[in-house]
Amino acid sequence: MSERLIIVGAGQAAVQAVQSLRVDGFAGPITLIGDEAYGPYQRPPLSKAYLLGSFERERLFLKADGFYRESGCELRLNTKVTAIDRQTKTVTLDDGSSLPYDKLLLATGTRVRKLTCPGAQLPGVHYLRDIADVDGLQQEFLAGKRIAIVGGGYIGLEVAAVAAKRGLDVTVFEAMERLMARAVSRPMSDFFAAEHAKAGVTIKFKTGVEAIEGKAQVEGARAGGHLYPADIVLVGIGVVPNDELAKAAGLETNDGIVVDRHGMTADSSIFAAGDCTRHVGREGLSIRLESVQNAIDQAKHCALAMTGKAKIYSEVPWFWSDQYDLKLQIAGLARPTDTTIVRGDPATRKFSVFHLRDGVVAAVEAVNAAPDYMIGKKLVADGVRVAPERLADTAIPIKQIAG
Ligand SMILES: Cc1cc2nc3c(=O)[nH]c(=O)nc-3n(C[C@H](O)[C@H](O)[C@H](O)COP(=O)(O)OP(=O)(O)OC[C@H]3O[C@@H](n4cnc5c(N)ncnc54)[C@H](O)[C@@H]3O)c2cc1C
Repeated sequence: MSERLIIVGAGQAAVQAVQSLRVDGFAGPITLIGDEAYGPYQRPPLSKAYLLGSFERERLFLKADGFYRESGCELRLNTKVTAIDRQTKTVTLDDGSSLPYDKLLLATGTRVRKLTCPGAQLPGVHYLRDIADVDGLQQEFLAGKRIAIVGGGYIGLEVAAVAAKRGLDVTVFEAMERLMARAVSRPMSDFFAAEHAKAGVTIKFKTGVEAIEGKAQVEGARAGGHLYPADIVLVGIGVVPNDELAKAAGLETNDGIVVDRHGMTADSSIFAAGDCTRHVGREGLSIRLESVQNAIDQAKHCALAMTGKAKIYSEVPWFWSDQYDLKLQIAGLARPTDTTIVRGDPATRKFSVFHLRDGVVAAVEAVNAAPDYMIGKKLVADGVRVAPERLADTAIPIKQIAG
């Protein structure tokens, strides 16, 4: 008898799981249940080209409709899974009905962290997670409008870059003393701060937003004791994993659904992949990653495990961000205690920052420097030791950097 698989959440990890399961020989029926109105789509363009208006909606979708039919996968949209019963091996849907499973894959992603200060509910306060969010924002995202962006992380800065390009007046409020502080080194933060300033973006560091002011609509953001007039507020202060279903079903959660290095929970019938999970990474630390790479690779490993070909997940994490004409690419997970070496001159807008840990390349951040990123990623994967002076010396081609 072939097994029945239910996938909860129709996003990046889910669609990869469907594809990989069929390649790996999973023969049973697959039901993919998603609470959005759309089939699986890519989110990265939402805060980049799609918001700018240079990327058509159709291109967001990860697969054509025919893919699901041909893969023997029933796609149920606008449907939320509200409970898992591990005894009867069923899931409950928001219409009250239930569906049986033999295997269950949780790919529920994350949701945005909400602003809680006074005025946070006012019309004109926006978030950016899904297509509907961008569509809602677009109507107000017009040249001449003043936008206050709460949070100087990837999302806030990508929106700032698009807003500046589209002629909005942009102010970013960042509680820390530098941009993208959780994700990049200080030289990289400083470089991006300078680029945003050049584009006319005002950045207020060490400034938390205390209240959103306005009567029927946003009129300003109060921060650091000042009132900054604004027509729109965009909040980018991080995300929260959708792990409540798993928790309510008695599975271990800890800011994410805890899975092993095959993507399996403590219940051997239930797997999880993508942003909603917490796993032990290749460096032996417990991590929750929010990236397309992690969603894809974890889904592939779940598929392998479900088809009896389990393989340990230990890929090098990688990320990217597009701001203006700058492509930031990162491989590996840096730590504040790493030694950082800048390769190239930031003034050329093409350089990289290598992170050494005990002399070994642990991470690389590259701007408009794809070869540094690609070679750096391999050095991280192979755990290669490189002398700091060689990394800093651009006369040595990056391909020969390992000596
Ligand atoms: C604006 C934006 C820009 C980004 N840019 C980048 C980037 O440049 N590079 C990068 O690597 N990553 C980027 N990311 C992150 C990347 O999109 C995510 O890491 C990736 O989508 C994770 O895939 P996932 O399958 O885990 O979750 P998702 O793709 O979020 O899919 C989860 C789905 O599950 C649904 N769901 C949740 N609970 C239920 C339920 N109970 N029942 C039914 N459905 C449910 C959700 O509504 C959602 O549709 C970006 C994200 C955003 C929002």
